[in-house]
Amino acid sequence: MHDLAVLELEDCRRCGLWKARTRIVNGSGNPRAAVMFTGEAPGKAEDLKGIGFQGQAGKIFEALLSYLGLSRETIWLNNAIRCRPLNGRKNRTPRMGEIEACRPWLLQDMETVDPKVVVTLGRIAYESVSGRQDFTEKRGRLLDISGGPALFPLFHPAYLIYRRASRQLMCHDLMELGRYLDEIGIDRAKQTRPGDVFCES
Ligand code: SF4
Repeated sequence: MHDLAVLELEDCRRCGLWKARTRIVNGSGNPRAAVMFTGEAPGKAEDLKGIGFQGQAGKIFEALLSYLGLSRETIWLNNAIRCRPLNGRKNRTPRMGEIEACRPWLLQDMETVDPKVVVTLGRIAYESVSGRQDFTEKRGRLLDISGGPALFPLFHPAYLIYRRASRQLMCHDLMELGRYLDEIGIDRAKQTRPGDVFCES
């Protein structure tokens, strides 16, 4: 078994994002999890705390987990990019070179945790894990990556903060994902009702 890609501050300078980071945001959760969630990149709160999905997006992420009957303790959570991408003082979308530079850490996580399914959150995570550029067509569907775990792309939680219509799509996607998790025998706690966050009744 390889070591998890857990990096100490200042360890990695593969791309220029090390210059402005407070912390590298490594993966967290259960290193033997059957379900891995991969997000995009740290924002301000994550950069300070060193743990993925804080703040408003974190609340939506936890609601998503709760809806699926999962928790931060039962999954493995990481990001496509481990240092905060900044444009001045604001977050920005990671650049292709940064995604490529950080990808070995992501792949190392995948190899070590060896999950049955990787749930990607948003376009960047999907592209980094799959190497494909068809997020819009594939979102909400189960995909096979040759020789790797199954892949299930979802919207990024931050995308849903102000988009109620997309929450309805997320509702549908989560039901599909839940059915698949049952099919492959993932142990899930009692789930929240669909209408709680994502599905309007
Ligand atoms: S974003 Fe990834 S590749 Fe770039 S410095 Fe941080 S850990 Fe290294």
